[in-house]
Amino acid sequence: MASLEIRQYPDEILRQPTKKITKFDTSLRKLVQDMFDTMYQADGVGLAAPQIGVSKQILIIDTAGENEAKRPMVFINPRILNSSGEMIGLEGCLSFPGVFFEVKRAENIIVKFQNINGKDQKIDVKGGLLSRAIQHEIDHLEGALFIDKPISKLSADLELTKHGFLDGDIIECEPQTPLAINANELVNA
Ligand SMILES: [Zn+2]
Repeated sequence: MASLEIRQYPDEILRQPTKKITKFDTSLRKLVQDMFDTMYQADGVGLAAPQIGVSKQILIIDTAGENEAKRPMVFINPRILNSSGEMIGLEGCLSFPGVFFEVKRAENIIVKFQNINGKDQKIDVKGGLLSRAIQHEIDHLEGALFIDKPISKLSADLELTKHGFLDGDIIECEPQTPLAINANELVNA
């Protein structure tokens, strides 16, 4: 078991495009295992390799709830072949601890990728947390971040300022009502 350090914004590696995986060997397996250890320890539903300082096209996801059996998924060299519909939902990111705001994503996606053995696979995802998590993580592999696409830039900037990712002061005029968040629909990836 090896839990790795999660790179936080504005670490430069989060903005770098990643390299394709060409060797499906034991060092890849070890890296993926370390990524799972890291993601589970951080209570995330997804993690992309750049978030642990590795500029390669690997992402992992597990959308299982707290009391469910684990559902680990590995996507190597993933590409979105087709997307349709749209959905808006709250998103977080392990590289921005504590920050949540609404992001618009495609609802349905078809993704091609390779599994841990290098075998070509395809997955057809109809909406929900898995669809959102895959899109969030594929963005990471392209150096894109959820702060590039908030529904409301103002809300996102307030969140970023509140958690120390942007300079500035926030004066709160009213007590904040806690957000009604359905944990199962919350992506923290
Ligand atoms: Zn993220």
